[in-house]
Amino acid sequence: MSYIQFLGAAGVVTGSKHLIHLDGDGGRALQVLVDCGLFQGQKEWRERNWQDLPVPASTIEAVILTHAHLDHSGWIPRLVKQGFHGPIYATAATIDFCGILLPDSGHLQEEDAEFYNKTKASKHHPALPLYTMEDAQQCMTLFRPVNFGEIKQLSPLLSFRFVRAAHILGSSMVEITVTTGGQSEKLLFTGDIGRVRNDEIAPGTVLHSGPTEGEACDVLVMESTYGNRVHPRNDPRPEMAALIRTTLQRGGSVVVPSFAVERTQKFLFLLKELMETGQVPRVPVHADSPMAIKAVQIFLKHTEEFSPQTKDLIQKYGSPLDWSNFYFDVTQDDSKRINESNYPTIIVSSSGMVAGGRVLHHLMLRLPNPKNLVLFIGFQAPGTRGFTIKSGAPTVKIFGQEVPIHAQIAALEQFSDHADTPELLEWLRTFRRPPKATYLVHGEPAASSQLRDTMTKALGWNVQIAAYRQKVAVE
Ligand SMILES: [Zn+2]
Repeated sequence: MSYIQFLGAAGVVTGSKHLIHLDGDGGRALQVLVDCGLFQGQKEWRERNWQDLPVPASTIEAVILTHAHLDHSGWIPRLVKQGFHGPIYATAATIDFCGILLPDSGHLQEEDAEFYNKTKASKHHPALPLYTMEDAQQCMTLFRPVNFGEIKQLSPLLSFRFVRAAHILGSSMVEITVTTGGQSEKLLFTGDIGRVRNDEIAPGTVLHSGPTEGEACDVLVMESTYGNRVHPRNDPRPEMAALIRTTLQRGGSVVVPSFAVERTQKFLFLLKELMETGQVPRVPVHADSPMAIKAVQIFLKHTEEFSPQTKDLIQKYGSPLDWSNFYFDVTQDDSKRINESNYPTIIVSSSGMVAGGRVLHHLMLRLPNPKNLVLFIGFQAPGTRGFTIKSGAPTVKIFGQEVPIHAQIAALEQFSDHADTPELLEWLRTFRRPPKATYLVHGEPAASSQLRDTMTKALGWNVQIAAYRQKVAVE
């Protein structure tokens, strides 16, 4: 039987991994993975990273990757470690981002294992990393770039092409045509879907907005992260400017926990615009993340995906790496030096959910002072320090200490890179025909079930929620 099997992102937003198994006419089967993501977050999910796939990794011929986020790409080095040696197809920008994200993930895996061995907190002795930085660097040789729109024929059974998902730079959906027994069927895997519009509701979006419209497929495998959410519709710029301005005026500093890839660049572009138009005073801005420079360089290499506003900004002000008063801090010493000055400053630092990284030092120092502002511009998952700080807790534990939270805490939700429910519906309404079946993945159960109900009611489509390891037949 030919089938799709959901090996991750079923009932959860991480671990995206979908196996396509096609029975060939001559008996030779073809197996391809769409995405190969890491499970993240709670222990129950992370333990799935250690499970084997239901088929040997060496029998998978290729991986087709929608985008670079680790919840879609972060299991690739493990797959390779288990014997996969085929090509990994992705857009050029996705490959560039994987080149910085995967080795960093390997480094974190090594650090985690080391930490467990020191504290003996693991039942496995010695605790081993899921993969190392070197494993991750080595697997980069398997990546093959594919342009948007280019049709790639992997075998007589399967061809695919990437179309735009507008989620992050390089992000794509995968249109797959399978041909078995003389019949053709079209599958569409959305990966993560970006905002449907730029304009005033999602300003600062560095990229062209809008996933490719007018799709037609037989089977749709679609994300449902915000299946029960509506993003705020107002322009965040006036609020962002006012928050920063009042903090600086009272002599405080601003700390912005932010993911180094995409979100930091987006924030810097907006900040530059607000400074140039006199809405925010020109104080020093520190992008304090070793990955931020590399990510900016990758951005500047792929200008073809930029929105007209971003092109304008770059034309007017040049590369963010050359902006005066904007500092990209590479070394630990650079990072420490930020804290030697008492002058108000704006620090954008990762990790975005305050799980680790340099932002910890900045928060430890600045959370106790009511003059300062901590500004969240990204999703904070329950259980993370970011969630604790954002939810108004009186203290947060950093490096074993309970740090009192007296700083002002604010959040801007408009920075999301995922379409919300009205935007998803707007995009689905552009389909040329309803799919025979839709499977929702990449969502918490409440979000997926609400989106299923909304789609069934609004569109009359056959929509189901994918279950972990469930197999669904392909013609
Ligand atoms: Zn993503």
